[in-house]
Amino acid sequence: MQFIDEFRDPNAVKLLLNKINALVKQTQFTQDSPLNIMEVCGGHTHAIFKFGLDRLLPPEINFIHGPGCPVCVLPMGRIDTCIDIAKLPDVIFCTFGDAMRVPGQQGSLLATRGQGYDIRIIYSPLDALTLAKRNPQKQIVLFGLGFETTMPGIALTIQQAKQQQLTNFSLLCQHISIIPTLKALLTLPNIKIDAFLGPGHLSMIIGVKPYQFISENYAKPVVISGFEPVDMLQSVVMILMQLIRQQYLVENQYRRIVADQGNLLAQAVIKQVFTLQGNDEWRGLGEILGSGVRLSKEYQEFDAELRFNTKHYSHQDDPNARCGDVLTGRSKPINCPLFGKKCTPQSAYGALMVSSEGACAAYYQYRQGDLIC
Ligand code: SF4
Repeated sequence: MQFIDEFRDPNAVKLLLNKINALVKQTQFTQDSPLNIMEVCGGHTHAIFKFGLDRLLPPEINFIHGPGCPVCVLPMGRIDTCIDIAKLPDVIFCTFGDAMRVPGQQGSLLATRGQGYDIRIIYSPLDALTLAKRNPQKQIVLFGLGFETTMPGIALTIQQAKQQQLTNFSLLCQHISIIPTLKALLTLPNIKIDAFLGPGHLSMIIGVKPYQFISENYAKPVVISGFEPVDMLQSVVMILMQLIRQQYLVENQYRRIVADQGNLLAQAVIKQVFTLQGNDEWRGLGEILGSGVRLSKEYQEFDAELRFNTKHYSHQDDPNARCGDVLTGRSKPINCPLFGKKCTPQSAYGALMVSSEGACAAYYQYRQGDLIC
């Protein structure tokens, strides 16, 4: 198949649904004790709701939403650090649009910009580099966040800054690596995950092999999936086949995009610029061992935290907020008492409600009418 409509073809969808209905009968899963498939990536969460896959699938299959939205796992305190830097004299603070509305305790970057501080939305990390060249009297700080999907672009930008000997450019590094995150998730108590729908875009960088610990150590299928209805239903078929055969593997449904070995050039540039070092705190997941992504020694001169000697904040969530439970698949957004009340896209409490990949945003956008009573 080459064109998008082929991946949304109703006949192909019906055939796959029939197959899923037949296969699920060969398993022990029931409506009360369903097959819990965690989609790691927020892009999958939104596709499930956009195409109504949750309604088409039999009740024995339950999608649970994972921690694969990098904006959603951003701790509140980190936004406060961004705001501290943005308020320094002669700083232009650059970020991607998704991070603008995430609330910290001091408010959001959007609200801070409203107070007159120079905070700009960029569309490519290279935009920040251009700003640095055009404004030599200013300090340009780039807020770099995301999993391995976004790391290569940021890494190349840092390499260019070094080549061009820019002294007014730095990175506030908020990258996160997927494998320590999944390892931490699998060791949390009360986790009921039977299988994983692996992230498509991120796997394009890291490939298939890094997920093998899930199938080997935890006997859970992982199927790296595309984002169209046929992709995702085919991935569910592959998961069911593995469970029926009791043969747990990492399979790659998204072969048209994801090479089994990933992108070797991107992996090399990540390795040159970043290093996995120390533990970091992630919203909903707590402190994750070995998850800290820092600039490597060779590029440390571009570390905004060192340059501006930033303050570290750690805040407790509102006890009623369920962001952590939603991010770890232990709760659906609708079970959060703040959903649609204290927390809406216009007045969000958690990043999951404002990120374009957030699970709460997906429920609010596609199921709001059904859910709010
Ligand atoms: S509704 Fe808001 S507070 Fe509740 S889990 Fe979602 S983002 Fe967090």
